[in-house]
Amino acid sequence: MIPQISQAPGLVQLVLTFLQSLQEQGFTGDTATSYADRLSLSTDNSIYQLLPDAALFPRSTADVALIARMAGESRFNSLVFTPRGGGTGTNGQSLNQGIVVDMSRYMNRILEINTEQGWVRVEAGVIKDQLNAWLKPYGFFFSPELSTSNRATLGGMINTDASGQGSLVYGKTSDHVEGLRAVLLGGDILDTRAMPTELAEQLAATPTAEGRIYNVVLNRCRNQRDLILEKFPKLNRFLTGYDLRHVFSDDLQTFNLTRLLCGAEGTLAFITEARLDITPIPKVRRLVNIKYDSFDSALRNAPFMVEAKALSVETVDSKVLNLAREDIVWHSVHELITDVPDKEMLGLNIVEFAGDDGELIEKQVSNLCARLDELMMSQQGGVIGYQLCNDLGGIERIYNMRKKRWACWGTRKGAPSRSRLWKIRPYRRNSWQITSSIFVPCSTAMA
Ligand SMILES: Cc1cc2nc3c(=O)[nH]c(=O)nc-3n(C[C@H](O)[C@H](O)[C@H](O)COP(=O)(O)OP(=O)(O)OC[C@H]3O[C@@H](n4cnc5c(N)ncnc54)[C@H](O)[C@@H]3O)c2cc1C
Repeated sequence: MIPQISQAPGLVQLVLTFLQSLQEQGFTGDTATSYADRLSLSTDNSIYQLLPDAALFPRSTADVALIARMAGESRFNSLVFTPRGGGTGTNGQSLNQGIVVDMSRYMNRILEINTEQGWVRVEAGVIKDQLNAWLKPYGFFFSPELSTSNRATLGGMINTDASGQGSLVYGKTSDHVEGLRAVLLGGDILDTRAMPTELAEQLAATPTAEGRIYNVVLNRCRNQRDLILEKFPKLNRFLTGYDLRHVFSDDLQTFNLTRLLCGAEGTLAFITEARLDITPIPKVRRLVNIKYDSFDSALRNAPFMVEAKALSVETVDSKVLNLAREDIVWHSVHELITDVPDKEMLGLNIVEFAGDDGELIEKQVSNLCARLDELMMSQQGGVIGYQLCNDLGGIERIYNMRKKRWACWGTRKGAPSRSRLWKIRPYRRNSWQITSSIFVPCSTAMA
């Protein structure tokens, strides 16, 4: 969609001063103030549009720390900074009128892998598909999935606690983050990991920015634990509000600040690096594409697949199916999802089974097929047919079709024009700079 802001407001002098000081202090990344650069970062996948004053493209944690150190100076108090990854967020989270810090241009290196312990260390701008392509020869993958995996960054995934296909078995991003390197306002670096509560108590006693954060989070989350457990909704994905509950393990013996940063939508700190756990690639994968007479039938039938112990169930409605049919992508999958003679396919469940135990997988697939045959015989559940896909190439083509359907959706006839909506300011938690006092390392906020 073409952004349609028609006027380019001039740059605020304070922003120019900030950028100039940044260069003088040895910032090695790029700075951008042209209207074109600002415009390209004024949209994400939401209906909102906000023109930033400037964009920064850091090359390293040191660059980010420099931005944060200068941002902490009182003369720059009024400036607002927003981290950005791939800009695929759907709620306008990476948009702001201040300074956008784009982590995706340069901070996209994969730094270290340990296959024995099963982890990888990456910079925040690494794209999810980039990571999995890199991990493939090692026989591993990063298991949290999302439809925008060819664009979304690990920094964005961590900050939105992304999850998608396969989450029934693999969970969400926060379940796979072992530790983070974060840059705080003021430029201090915070390295997080799970640790015995005793060690966190020792850290909480140190007179540093890190110590103050440990002190506040540890004491508040422990003293208010009953209220946190009682009042906060039990969420599966920690994008709405901070995950105060899981900062502690259930027995309170382990403490982990990582859980607070996951899903924080960039409001607490810049994440520059992450240590992620990785999962061995399953040896056997099978797909059952189940066809329905309506979208409603497909939805109603989904719990049945969960009972069948499927790894994932992706439901596709007729609108998206029809859009996909009109797209070139259909040529690659039409033989895997053929029409049923004399029936109209108006819904589809893409059901995957995967694991290392081939016999078990075959049994699960044949059990499901037997149950589907029964439903079709008795004309129940709206099932009109199904098709198996056993080869990896076919499986990947079907998932690509599913991912591409979103692109079709955005360009469909009658899709809303962004221009009518750009003035609506997206809801954000307080911006990073003035947010929750526990992460602002200035003495007044901590008092
Ligand atoms: C078509 C479509 C399908 C989608 N499907 C899924 C899906 O299946 N599952 C799912 O979970 N989401 C989905 N999303 C939403 C989106 O892709 C995810 O939220 C994704 O994790 C965002 O990653 P990003 O790199 O694009 O982050 P951005 O959109 O750039 O940023 C998202 C948030 O993270 C913050 N952030 C980014 N990088 C950093 C950093 N280094 N440090 C601190 N904060 C940072 C930003 O400030 C912002 O608040 C979908 C979006 C689209 C457009």
